Amino acid sequence: MDANVREKLRANLAAVEQRIGAACARAGRRRSDVALVAVTKTVSTDIAALLPELGVLDLGENRPQELWRKSAALGPTIRWHMIGHLQRNKIERTLPLVTMIHGVDSIRLLQALEQEAAKQQRRVPVLLEVNASGEVSKQGFAPSDLESLAPTLCELKHIDVAGLMTMAALQEPEACRPTFSTLRRLRDRLHARLGGLHGCAHLSMGMSNDFEVAIEEGATLIRLGSVLFEGVA
Ligand SMILES: *Cc1c(COP(=O)(O)O)cnc(C)c1O
Repeated sequence: MDANVREKLRANLAAVEQRIGAACARAGRRRSDVALVAVTKTVSTDIAALLPELGVLDLGENRPQELWRKSAALGPTIRWHMIGHLQRNKIERTLPLVTMIHGVDSIRLLQALEQEAAKQQRRVPVLLEVNASGEVSKQGFAPSDLESLAPTLCELKHIDVAGLMTMAALQEPEACRPTFSTLRRLRDRLHARLGGLHGCAHLSMGMSNDFEVAIEEGATLIRLGSVLFEGVA
């Protein structure tokens, strides 16, 4: 790999780290409370392979086939996050490879995941995607439907509902704040309803455009792509 590419990525990462640290400080949170998931969907496997060398071990892909491909190439040190929609016919092959599945947006998918996780004798952490911004184009559970899901979620034995995930509208970052604070309130309410049967502690929110506001509003996982790979790929 070209030394310039490596140095540019290192510099981008350092700049992002500084911004994450500053956002944590503003919110009175510890840096260790926020995990950076590097979204590698726009870069080659060779570039993705530089990330673990730079200390980034959580990587995300939004297409299962691409996750399979990069995961085979990069080996077992990586914690893979499936961040996009997972079709049911891709579950069997994806489950053994991932640390967490963000973006679970239907009961049908939850039940298919439960079945396959039982078969593979695993307990799989998932995040429920919520359409917290209310845009018609967005996937995810409606905020008003979330609490009524609790009894169904309590029946799942091979899935840990580890928290919630959302995507804000692409707009001025400060305007995303209500989306993120809504997700946090929904997480708190669902957590209470689940009575300890599920972790329900995580908030996966914040992308290149809006991650600092997301951290201020309680994000525990931020999913960053373009801000890391600017000028690299
Ligand atoms: C691509 C993608 C990201 C990263 O987006 P950037 O704006 O490039 O940081 C985060 N989450 C999901 C679900 C994505 O598909």
